[in-house]
Amino acid sequence: MNFLSSVYQYKCPRCRQGDLFVKPFNMSKPLEMPDNCAVCGQKTMPEPGFYYGSMFLSYIVTGFLYLGIVGFLMLVLDMSVNKAFIILLLFVAITYFKTARLARSLWIHAMVRYDEKYDQKKI
Ligand SMILES: [Zn+2]
Repeated sequence: MNFLSSVYQYKCPRCRQGDLFVKPFNMSKPLEMPDNCAVCGQKTMPEPGFYYGSMFLSYIVTGFLYLGIVGFLMLVLDMSVNKAFIILLLFVAITYFKTARLARSLWIHAMVRYDEKYDQKKI
């Protein structure tokens, strides 16, 4: 599994096999993570407040994405500001947990190095 598919599928950054988030998805705890990876034991919360930085990452990425969406709706499709923002709010509501999880996944992947010894083909 390569880096990007590991990020996108919320896999552990060290072994790229264990899950970063508790399955099945629980609506009341959308960001609940197990304490350790079930495969390699990597901590999912290496230090207190670890995911604080992922909020900034998420803010930057979604800020430009949403600006692009509103720009597209207003300039290309010639919508009014109110219409464009209603569509944007619906889009944000639908993708909220996805972006929050992706930001966490990307953050821990940037901090924890992949360890080849957990590659299943080599075991
Ligand atoms: Zn792991």
